[in-house]
Amino acid sequence: MQKFPEAHDLLVSEGATVEITPVAPAPMRQLLRVHNSGYLRKLAHGTLTDKEVYKLGLPWHPRLLHRSSLETAATVAACRYALDHGMAANLAGGTHHAFPDQGLGYCVLNDVAVAIGELQAKHSTLRVFIADTDAHQGNGTHAIFRGDQRVFTYSIHGERNYPSAKEAGSCDVGLPRDVSGHHYLTALTDTLPDALDSFPADLVIWISGADVHERDRFGQMKLTTEEMTARDRFVIDWCLDRRLPLVVLYGGGYHREPGMTARLHANTIGTAAMAFRARPSGHDRPARQPDLTDPYQPGAPSLR
Ligand SMILES: [Zn+2]
Repeated sequence: MQKFPEAHDLLVSEGATVEITPVAPAPMRQLLRVHNSGYLRKLAHGTLTDKEVYKLGLPWHPRLLHRSSLETAATVAACRYALDHGMAANLAGGTHHAFPDQGLGYCVLNDVAVAIGELQAKHSTLRVFIADTDAHQGNGTHAIFRGDQRVFTYSIHGERNYPSAKEAGSCDVGLPRDVSGHHYLTALTDTLPDALDSFPADLVIWISGADVHERDRFGQMKLTTEEMTARDRFVIDWCLDRRLPLVVLYGGGYHREPGMTARLHANTIGTAAMAFRARPSGHDRPARQPDLTDPYQPGAPSLR
C-alpha cells in the first residue's frame, strides 16, 4: 500500500498545484447506506471467513475498516468539493469491486457507492456518471447501481481479465487481452462521449486506474506512459469543456517497478490540476449547478 503515501509525496515534492486536506473516517451511518451491517461487523471484529479473506485479497487487520473508511470519506469529500468548485481528487479510492455484503479484489468498501448515497440522501435527484477506465470491470459498482436511473455506469476494461463474472453496467466496453494503447484510446474516444452525451450528469466520478500501463502486473493492457496521459487528457478535457464537475479517483495499479504506480497516479492528478488551472478565469465553476441547498464542508484533496 506504499503507492498511496508515495503519490502524496510526489505531488507535494514536485509542487503540484493541489491543496491536500486530510479527512476523518466515514461514519458508520454512511457505510450502512451501501453495506450490510453483518459485513461491517466482520470487518470490525476480524471474523471474515477464510474464503472471504481470500476473495478480498487482503489479510484482515485491526485497522482495515478504519483505513477503508478514511479512503471512503475522501471520496465523499472530493465529490462535495467538486460539485462546488469544479474538480477534486482522492489520493486513493475507486474500490469498484466491493459489493454490499463482501469485499473483492483488494476492495473493502465501495467508496463511490457510499459517496453517491451520501450525496443523494440530501439531493435525491442528483445524477452521477461513473467513468471507470481501470483495466478491470467495476463489477461491484455496476451491481449496486443497476436499475438506478440517476446513476450511469461506464466501464472500459479487459474482457477476459478479473473479475471473471462480469456484471452488466449501463455501458461496458470489453477489450482483448494485451490491448494496445492505440486500440484502447480508439475504443475510449468512440464510446465515452456518446455515453456522457446520453446522460445529463450533475457530477462525473472518474475511476482512472493506473493498471492500464504496459508494465503493470495485472492490467493485461499495453498503454505507454504517454498514452496514459492522452487518456487522462481526453477524460479531463471532455469534462472541463462542458464544465462538468469531475472527481478523480485512483483505482488499481500494480506496476512491476517500485514507485511507478504512484508516479502514474500522481501524473493523472497533476495533469488534471494543470488542465483545470489552464482554463480561463470563470471556468472554475461548473455550468450545470444542481440544486444544492446544503452548505458543504470543505474536505478532501482538491484541485484548485
Ligand atoms: Zn484494476
